[in-house]
Amino acid sequence: EQEVAEYQKSLAIRVSGFDVPRPVKTFEDCGFAPELMRAIAKQGYEKPTTIQCQALPIVLSGRDIIGIAKTGSGKTASFVLPMIVHIMDQPELQKEEGPIGVICAPTRELAHQIYLETKKFAKAYGLRSCAVYGGMSKLDQFKELKAGCEIVVATPGRLIDMIKMKALTMMRATYLVLDEADRMFDLGFEPQIRSIVGQIRPDRQTLLFSATMPRKVEKLAREILGDPVRVAVGEVGM
Ligand code: ADP
Ligand code: MG
Repeated sequence: EQEVAEYQKSLAIRVSGFDVPRPVKTFEDCGFAPELMRAIAKQGYEKPTTIQCQALPIVLSGRDIIGIAKTGSGKTASFVLPMIVHIMDQPELQKEEGPIGVICAPTRELAHQIYLETKKFAKAYGLRSCAVYGGMSKLDQFKELKAGCEIVVATPGRLIDMIKMKALTMMRATYLVLDEADRMFDLGFEPQIRSIVGQIRPDRQTLLFSATMPRKVEKLAREILGDPVRVAVGEVGM
């Protein structure tokens, strides 16, 4: 315990929540399957970044998380890698339809970046990702979603449009990520986020990541996450 506390301190990680899984030092410590380890190596990732060291074991254990770390700290892989594991752990993958992993981001540029990162790792298992954001034809997106996928990366407004058009169902969604939550708030997406959360089964795993944690974002997080572990790396702006 003392050793864990010292390791967290050396990483400048502040953690709160009960029964927090201990941080890892390597990707091997995460118990990833060989396919995923190869995909990680192919990206040139040698060891987890600071946020990944603490976030990966928490998310892999099935816990909800509030992850706070500055831009460029590697937050994306903190939710994408455990998402792949989560999806592969679902029994009878083919039985129902709709995405299992749903990732929301504030802008199409950010959603697109996450989509690209997701595809690199999803490919290892032949999982299908769909990008759902403005600037693309709704009809094309509708058709793509209808063809089926395990992962959706979306901006909130377009995702709601697609759900309304019945391009997809949230029946199977059990892993929800809200990325750049502070910016989603700044852009006025709180009602859309609440609507999306309300359409996903309550036994989901929910992850919220942000570069800063203003009080209103923390408040939303506490409402929609269950017993989250809060992990903050470095200085945290409000
Ligand atoms: P954030 O979302 O925190 O702003 P990103 O997830 O976009 O950060 O990651 C920033 C950069 O770091 C990306 O280019 C990503 O490929 C790279 N990266 C992520 N994890 C690692 C790692 N473990 N080792 C090396 N590079 C990494
Ligand atoms: Mg990011």
